[in-house]
Amino acid sequence: MRHILNRLFEHKALVLMYHRVAAPAADIWDIAVSPENFEQHLKILRKKGNVQPLRQLVAELRDGKLQKNSIAITFDDGYIDNFAVAKPLLEQYGLPATFFITSGNIGKDEEFWWEELEHILLFTPKLPQTFSAEVGEGPFTFDLQAETHLTVELRQRHIYWNACDEAPPTRRAELFLALWQQLKPLPYIAQKELLGHIRDWAGVPVSRRAAYRSMTAAQLQEMGRGSLFDIGAHTVTHAALGMHRLPVQEQELRDNRQYLTAVTGADIPLLAYPYGNYNSDTLAAAVNTGFAAAFTTEEKAVKKRSSLYRLGRLQVKNLPGQAFAAQLDAWQHKL
Ligand SMILES: [Zn+2]
Repeated sequence: MRHILNRLFEHKALVLMYHRVAAPAADIWDIAVSPENFEQHLKILRKKGNVQPLRQLVAELRDGKLQKNSIAITFDDGYIDNFAVAKPLLEQYGLPATFFITSGNIGKDEEFWWEELEHILLFTPKLPQTFSAEVGEGPFTFDLQAETHLTVELRQRHIYWNACDEAPPTRRAELFLALWQQLKPLPYIAQKELLGHIRDWAGVPVSRRAAYRSMTAAQLQEMGRGSLFDIGAHTVTHAALGMHRLPVQEQELRDNRQYLTAVTGADIPLLAYPYGNYNSDTLAAAVNTGFAAAFTTEEKAVKKRSSLYRLGRLQVKNLPGQAFAAQLDAWQHKL
């Protein structure tokens, strides 16, 4: 009985994870929330009245004084729409948020590799029949068969594909996923090389879609200026930390933090692991480089006994207000 009561009254916090506030034609990883839906989320969160800055939540956790049902809002990667769309809405509703920034893309006229890869494989009108490359395990060859031309039907299937839950629906999607898995663990230089090879094979220039850019340094600086927003660390190159050696991990964290401190003038005590990926070295690296706490993408609430360097977060999907409220309730009761 006491066990059940303890569980019922155990104080816990939810840390929400957003990426983009935008309405792209395709969103295979479910990381974009439309501006309309995002505003509805904020209305609901403001009404609940328990949103607090992430650093405050972490301080309370550290001091053993976690409040009941508090919520924090976070964003990953540093997309330009965080500045252009999310920031004014958060200000309008007076809600605090923390932005975890991948510093290598700040101010660059470039997309993140996974978005360029998606654009090339799923939406280029014509691709060569056969792809081949030298990858980690040796030569890799893939035949697109009847899918060299992007038909209306293929395009539709790609637009409606949810890669988090569904197997690839086409040959092109299958190749995309195989290459995504090859690219993710690579050192940054090798990643750039393989992406360049894929681009050359497809015969397309570097993709520079304005909506997929990161913020500029000036925008990042402005973001960190007010009391409502905090900047957090998310590595220099969006490295899958647990797949690299400890010195590489430490350098990713140290250089990222140094850059963010230089731009914003603020201390950067909080870190989010890219892809939620970490190993035991990562936990050591986070401590060694001076972070106070770090977040994964594991779907769990923050509780009294949560490890400070493995805190969970909850990915918010593109849901309208009612469905978002129901999701929040479900998280609050089940996690
Ligand atoms: Zn990320």
